[in-house]
Amino acid sequence: MSKLSKAYRPQKHEDKIYQKWEESGYFNPDNLNLPDDAPSYTIVLPPPNITDKLHLGHSSMLAIEDLLIRFHRMNGYRTLWIPGTDHAAIATQNVVEKKLLREKNLTRHDLGREKFLEKVWEFLRETQNTILKQTRKMGASLDWSRESFTLDKQRQKAVTQMFVDMYKEGVIYRGERIVNWCPRCHSTLADDEVEHAEQRAKFYTFKYWKGFPISISTTRPETKIGDTAVAVNPKDERYQKYIGQEFEGNFCGVPLKIKIIADREVDMNLGTGALGVTPAHSMVDWKMAEDNKLEIKKVIDEDGKIHQEFGEFSGLTAKKAGELIIKKLKANNLLEKEEEIDNALSTCYRCDTAIEPLPSKQWFVSVNKKIKRLKNKSLREKAIEVVRGKEISFIPGRFEKQYINWMENLHDWCISRQIWFGHQIPVWYKNTDNKHNKRIGEEIYVGITPPKNKEQWTQDPDVLDTWFSSGMWTFSTLGWPDNFKNGEKTGDLAKFHPTQVLETGYEIITLWVSRMIMMSLFSLGEIPFENVYLHGMVLDEKGDKMSKSKGNGINPIEVINEFGTDAVRLSLLIGNTPGNNLRIGGEKIAGMRNLINKLWNITRYIEDTFNISDLDNNTLTEKISPIMNKKTITLADKWILLEFNELSQQITVDIKNYRFSDAGENLKDFTWNKLADWYLEISKIEKNKNDKQVILKYILKNLLILWHPFIPFVTENIWGKIFTENNLLLVEPWTKESTIIGGEKATQNNFNILQKIITEIRNVRAQYRMSTNQDIELIIYTHQKNHFLENSQEILKNLKTKISKITIAENGLKINKAHYSTINGLEIYIPLNNIINLDEEKNRLSKEIQQTTNFIKTLDKKLSNENFINNAPKGIIDKEKEKLASQKNKLKNLNKYLEDLT
Ligand SMILES: [Zn+2]
Repeated sequence: MSKLSKAYRPQKHEDKIYQKWEESGYFNPDNLNLPDDAPSYTIVLPPPNITDKLHLGHSSMLAIEDLLIRFHRMNGYRTLWIPGTDHAAIATQNVVEKKLLREKNLTRHDLGREKFLEKVWEFLRETQNTILKQTRKMGASLDWSRESFTLDKQRQKAVTQMFVDMYKEGVIYRGERIVNWCPRCHSTLADDEVEHAEQRAKFYTFKYWKGFPISISTTRPETKIGDTAVAVNPKDERYQKYIGQEFEGNFCGVPLKIKIIADREVDMNLGTGALGVTPAHSMVDWKMAEDNKLEIKKVIDEDGKIHQEFGEFSGLTAKKAGELIIKKLKANNLLEKEEEIDNALSTCYRCDTAIEPLPSKQWFVSVNKKIKRLKNKSLREKAIEVVRGKEISFIPGRFEKQYINWMENLHDWCISRQIWFGHQIPVWYKNTDNKHNKRIGEEIYVGITPPKNKEQWTQDPDVLDTWFSSGMWTFSTLGWPDNFKNGEKTGDLAKFHPTQVLETGYEIITLWVSRMIMMSLFSLGEIPFENVYLHGMVLDEKGDKMSKSKGNGINPIEVINEFGTDAVRLSLLIGNTPGNNLRIGGEKIAGMRNLINKLWNITRYIEDTFNISDLDNNTLTEKISPIMNKKTITLADKWILLEFNELSQQITVDIKNYRFSDAGENLKDFTWNKLADWYLEISKIEKNKNDKQVILKYILKNLLILWHPFIPFVTENIWGKIFTENNLLLVEPWTKESTIIGGEKATQNNFNILQKIITEIRNVRAQYRMSTNQDIELIIYTHQKNHFLENSQEILKNLKTKISKITIAENGLKINKAHYSTINGLEIYIPLNNIINLDEEKNRLSKEIQQTTNFIKTLDKKLSNENFINNAPKGIIDKEKEKLASQKNKLKNLNKYLEDLT
């Protein structure tokens, strides 16, 4: 055994310790030497994008998941944590496109598909390792032998199989739908990839032509050349008589045929209460067109320009066309009103370009198709059922409702994307030109392998939505489809699926969590995970979002280099509660670094003072019960053992219930307050060193075990130096409840009284500004015989109290000119005569009372000032109220002190 160095430098140890863990092979559950019936515990790491660099959000996720993994590994579970990365189709392609444009002034079309994809893979090889290296830096005990990538060979096989299976069941279909189209990315976007921003927009009210009976309003006049109906509310008396009629006319040079239809969704109070229906360019209007069998006229093309059939508007950008229409409406006196309103603008989440809703031929996953293998339920119904039936639980529970709401309103999922990087759709078309939207009626082949006579076929150029492959993450990483034959799971899939916890951000419940549930139900007939733990966002110490432009971001690698990984992990765990945002700053991390140093110093003190290396490690627990009955055992000894026993039970319960922050706080309080500030201080006074040697080694050993999932590096380091270098703490069994019997409550109560008296004495010394070598006297009236305090006199005298004389009596006279207080029915006196100059002290107190009274008056005045109350921010008002309460309390104490002196 080597002695601990004076100061702990995490930077010197952490990489070496991680290497030791990795080389041990224990990250892989196959090497854990477990009995065959050991339960499994599996988490899949939400795969970061290959282009990501570690940010605090990742770090927080890694800290939480690693805590769960280490806890379960130590508790004898077949514990597996699967690492991997996401190819993030559109995001990655965008990064490479931008880079290409910046560095070589080329677009992807200049290079062509094959050359461009080579560039993407080249880029990917550079970036992918960064995030994986940084993940190791966080101490994540992931099974690297099972590392996966959403676009590697095995995952390609799985994705193709899934597509073909779903197509055969009729779940995947091709159809024309309004999609969110980004004219810049030239791609469809999922509903969740569309961002919404409020903006001011012009709202025009006009008639299509003179004599048309109804005025309509719009913010998009250019789309109105594609109108085929006007929708009104069936209850609207103004328009009832027109419902069902058809009108023909000429709108700014474009012939239109308009049918008046009724729709209950139309808002009678918005604009004129009548809605021009443009089926090809609005989701809502598309639905109306389907219900009313309206003609669908496409106005805007994939580049955001007007189609050819519209005369002088053809080829104009949408914006230009809109301006021209307004000009014409004005010239013909058809424009009735022009106002500014707040309007929700939809933009692309990648490039902020305004979204153009367009009809397009796309591949969809039907969420409403009844599926035989799901007992004639749809994906949507089944995915709701497993959450309602509590097969899957959300932590915190409030997100369950959000999930169900979302699922109840779920639309079919558009899975094709018009980009090149990703899983190319396994569909081939015979003898077609390859342009979008020109494939109607052609012969289709859908298969795992390409069709025969390949040269006659052309593969669909589109790729799948990236969530299609990450939606299969829990089982594609466990060997599906190879490990699934005739409805039977084999190999890893049988051992580790369903997984136990999915830990992720609440913002991707809809994008990812819901899809994982549907895809696992479809392919395996079972849930992907039993629990969904949702973490919040990581914010700066003021509660603001971290961002580059604000410069308030924290780079985890920088703070790891400065404070060590353990300190960063602990800052991300303490104060972190499920579903809520977490605040963190340099001060918090530094505080956690101090706590880790404290643990190091505690260990050094115990090692130096009690020769604990002389003691056998393996029989410590057995020695504890007999020690409790020894005559030499003290109140403090019993107290610390009972406190530790309680702590170890509490930590286990907290972690099982996902209360990581509470567990961390409890460990911190025990280590710093109970163990270091109280017990170790007392151990300097009490003489039973042999008992304390056993007690302290027992507590230290088990405390390291409890701390390990939170701060794995420093605990492993101490473990190797103090306990054994042969067995890693990583796989040490979790603490067993030790059998400590008898007198628990009384022991704890008595020790708490002792603590209160000592704290009171220290407060009095501070209040009267006594010097550290000033002796004082203590008199306690217990009001009962043989009080336990009689055996605790040495502690009362010497624990930073500097008491020269103690009198403990059943009863006695009231003592004047002394500080007086009562604690749990005990009367406590500390005589002040001869110790302080009473007159001076009275003067000082009177002055302070006067000052405090004045300050309270000022605060009262401020808080009764209506101007202040109505205008100041709530935070400031609350602060002032807090100040007032604390000043009033201070005044009460000062008056009491003054009274004691007379
Ligand atoms: Zn875009």
